[in-house]
Amino acid sequence: MKKLVVLTGAGVSAESGIPTFRDSGGLWEGYDVMEVATPEGWAKNPTLVLEFYNQRRKKALEVQPNKGHEVLVELEKYFDVTIITQNVDNLHERAGSTHVVHLHGSLFESRSSKDDALIYPVNGWELKLGEKCELGSQLRPNIVWFGELVYKMDEAVHYAKQADIFLVVGTSLQVYPAADLIQYTRPDTQKIIVDPKKPDYRMGDIVFIEEGGGAGMEKVKKLLLS
Ligand code: NAD
Repeated sequence: MKKLVVLTGAGVSAESGIPTFRDSGGLWEGYDVMEVATPEGWAKNPTLVLEFYNQRRKKALEVQPNKGHEVLVELEKYFDVTIITQNVDNLHERAGSTHVVHLHGSLFESRSSKDDALIYPVNGWELKLGEKCELGSQLRPNIVWFGELVYKMDEAVHYAKQADIFLVVGTSLQVYPAADLIQYTRPDTQKIIVDPKKPDYRMGDIVFIEEGGGAGMEKVKKLLLS
């Protein structure tokens, strides 16, 4: 089976009703990302940060996977599929994808603010101030914030290097190091990008499908199975 490696971003969840980040003028749901998605923001106001992610978690639990997620599940019948997602929602898993790497962490995990290795599931939508790890420090969302190390990048690079087909769906390719993953593919890797707006990226030999996630993924399926 050919190896299909898929890099997804916020755009793949847009048709489920989760707004992207870049399309709302650099604010994330009306919040300044520096306040809610950086270690400095956490140090300054943990209550605000917890509340921000509680709302994102609540929303993620209310929505359903869309056609784009579903086609990626269907493609597992024909390809060895690995999804590397920048998304912190769990819509790929809920759709049924079996191999998902969360490059930027997950809304549904918390971690110790003292020891990065202590990770716990978050059940339900709320993570509260006062909820502590076994070392007695406050639990924070297990999200990779701006300025933090993307500790799953080596794993993602490993998959990108093996890709026979590398597909990018719904990402502005402006958040690094994720945006660089495509550079690790082989020269003979077939490369496809799906996005309604052409990312500001040197396309070279990349096939660009100018569509939203659902319609775009239907086109990708046709292309790959023809
Ligand atoms: P981004 O917001 O920077 O870019 C979104 C991309 O999606 C854009 O290129 C846009 O043209 C495209 N898009 C818009 N509507 C689309 C549709 N219907 N179908 C397909 N594509 C569509 O997102 P990013 O590149 O993923 O980076 C933003 C960061 O914010 C990431 O680190 C991510 O963790 C975080 N984020 C996550 C979520 C989520 O988990 N669902 C949502 C917002 C932001």
